[in-house]
Amino acid sequence: MTADVISRIRRAQEAMTASGVDGLVVTPSADLRYLTGYAATALERLTALVLPADGDAVLVVPTLERAEASRCAAADSGVDILTHDETDNAHALVGDRLKGAATVAVDDHMWASRLLALQAAMPEAEMAVAGRLLADLRMIKGPDEAASLRDAGAAIDRVHRRMAEFLRVGRTEREIADDIARAIVEEGHATADFTIVGSGPNGASPHHSVSDRVVETGDSVVIDIGGATADGYCSDSTRTYVVGAEPSQEVRDYYSVLLAAQRAQCDYAKPGVTAESVDRVGRDIITEGGYGERFIHRTGHGIGLETHEEPYIVEGNQLPLKPGMAFSIEPGIYLPGRSGARIEDIVLVTEWGIERLNTTPRDLVLLEG
Ligand code: ZN
Ligand code: ZN
Ligand code: ZN
Repeated sequence: MTADVISRIRRAQEAMTASGVDGLVVTPSADLRYLTGYAATALERLTALVLPADGDAVLVVPTLERAEASRCAAADSGVDILTHDETDNAHALVGDRLKGAATVAVDDHMWASRLLALQAAMPEAEMAVAGRLLADLRMIKGPDEAASLRDAGAAIDRVHRRMAEFLRVGRTEREIADDIARAIVEEGHATADFTIVGSGPNGASPHHSVSDRVVETGDSVVIDIGGATADGYCSDSTRTYVVGAEPSQEVRDYYSVLLAAQRAQCDYAKPGVTAESVDRVGRDIITEGGYGERFIHRTGHGIGLETHEEPYIVEGNQLPLKPGMAFSIEPGIYLPGRSGARIEDIVLVTEWGIERLNTTPRDLVLLEG
């Protein structure tokens, strides 16, 4: 399925006009992939979508990458490719295309050295970042994107369902993570992007990756994993497991609070409520349960072509939810030096509420060990 990049480019132009941006330059990034379908890597030679608010888009690429670039959705849909040879001044080529532009916006992840070179090529133009403008577009997923996120969610759920194969007493976090990474690809992702295996006390560190710690009987283990589909859409789901023995009373106590919070947040989220209020609904329950100080991160992040993108589900974000937004609801409780737990589902805002894209059991999952 080819993404309808032409309508995305058109919407970007409308947004540029509305915000007084005359030209847009997007280098390899999720933004470029969104607008062109081109999953290029940022290298020393310039690759960029150059888009005037009023006029035709052009994809500027090194001559040696013309063949590769011409396979992307934008090229397929008629966007011209403009090549530069090894000794050409590629930035001047961009300046030429945007001649007369008073304000030029660039993607947030453009290399600083490129931005300076572009600025030198367009000394009259005022430069700005395009992050806000592009995030507003990317935040609302179209039906094709929703379908890809659903596929990604189902694929990561299949990996969680296989966890008894990997997570056993006596194995190191690293061994477990290596097996999970293989399973992420086996179950339908093109890439395994991250595998957090936080066993015992390591579960209290939300962004713990892996270590050589050996899983012990009775450990609770936070498994937070994700990958990307062939068309670039990401999965991200966390479950907390207990291996080889019943969980301790301490773990059971805080887990029941966490489960109630996550459920309440999923029941609450719907179009019109603000992002920060989704965070508050869960935080209030965790605070009443006595663990407010132990929920040390925001509730969630948007997801799409990047694992973390807008909207962020965090205090201070008054953005009202809209149908088509996709984000994580992932409260956690962390007791430093002891253990931790997190429950994470990706949800898609519908007309009435949300659809959960992860559906494996959310209780503490007891594995034989
Ligand atoms: Zn995270
Ligand atoms: Zn996660
Ligand atoms: Zn996440």
